[in-house]
Amino acid sequence: MLLESDALAAPRSGVAVQSLDDRERYSRQMLFPGIGQAGQARLSAGRVAVVGVGATGAATAGLLARAGVGQLTLVDRDFVEPSNLQRQTLFDEADALEALPKAEAARRQLARINSSVRVVAYIADLVPGNIEALLAESDLLLDCTDNFETRYLLNDYAVVSGKPWIYAAAVGAFAATMNILPRGAALRGEATACLACIFPSMPSGNVETCDTAGILSTAVNYAASLQVTEALKYLTGQAQLMRRTLISADLWSGERSEIATGKPRADCEVCGGRIFRALSGEGRPHITLCGRNSVQIHEHHRPVDLLELRERLSKLGTVRSNGMLLRFERSPHTITVFPDGRALVQGTTDIGLARSLYARFIGS
Ligand SMILES: [Zn+2]
Repeated sequence: MLLESDALAAPRSGVAVQSLDDRERYSRQMLFPGIGQAGQARLSAGRVAVVGVGATGAATAGLLARAGVGQLTLVDRDFVEPSNLQRQTLFDEADALEALPKAEAARRQLARINSSVRVVAYIADLVPGNIEALLAESDLLLDCTDNFETRYLLNDYAVVSGKPWIYAAAVGAFAATMNILPRGAALRGEATACLACIFPSMPSGNVETCDTAGILSTAVNYAASLQVTEALKYLTGQAQLMRRTLISADLWSGERSEIATGKPRADCEVCGGRIFRALSGEGRPHITLCGRNSVQIHEHHRPVDLLELRERLSKLGTVRSNGMLLRFERSPHTITVFPDGRALVQGTTDIGLARSLYARFIGS
């Protein structure tokens, strides 16, 4: 589902929106020698994709909109819940009560922060089948996801398209980030190692997530600040100033490390061998666990009529719909369905059970 800020800008009621003078708005940023007037003009022509609009994505998108980046493409598969409000800075209580999709809630808030930024919001799971359509318009890709499956997909796409991407992660009090400049994106500098040069295979076993280890909002904002600073360098034509390291920091213990990421590894399967397993969808599950006792079902590529579904399910449980998604509660499970047929089943991590609930209530 695609929503654009031009069509649906939603200023707060009763507040007259006047256009602000850009020279005044960006005056402090332009005073900074690294940006200046020329850099500000370049930022206004910048087109950036924010992949994942959870905690990191909300912080990153907010910083970019305030900085005056011309176009932001948001991609997120989830909706706002009360447990998000501690750290996801673009959302408020009304968004959580309404269970608004995060991409749409973020788009509305960004339009209030800076109405001159074009915001394109996709309520979607980024997958091999839609990555080109969703990200082709963007010159720089920012990883604000919470999973390595999407990161390896982004890495493949970045290497194929020659677009830079910036890895960022936060969990507990820990934050990490790294710039990946594939051939074609490095401008005056040399290409950097890609994600697969450094981590040839996806981390396996128990990887800590916000749902298991918790998260401090400060760690998120730290990762977002580093990521956006690097983005500003790139967008103002100063890619040669971008860090070529993997930075990680534990804000609670104070431990930090910075490892040089160096050049592409000659025997890297992705940027050397140009074998794109993630982009080809190889081994990709159609059903995934997505934290907080829930399962995502995205094997159905058939649109769902939310009005019809609402009528049918209201006899069987509690149904709420806001036009962008439908939530069906039937204790102890809640199924959230999107118009493209994708669903989040909460209350279980049993994939078989989630699939059978989907078949029973939504359709097979
Ligand atoms: Zn590589």
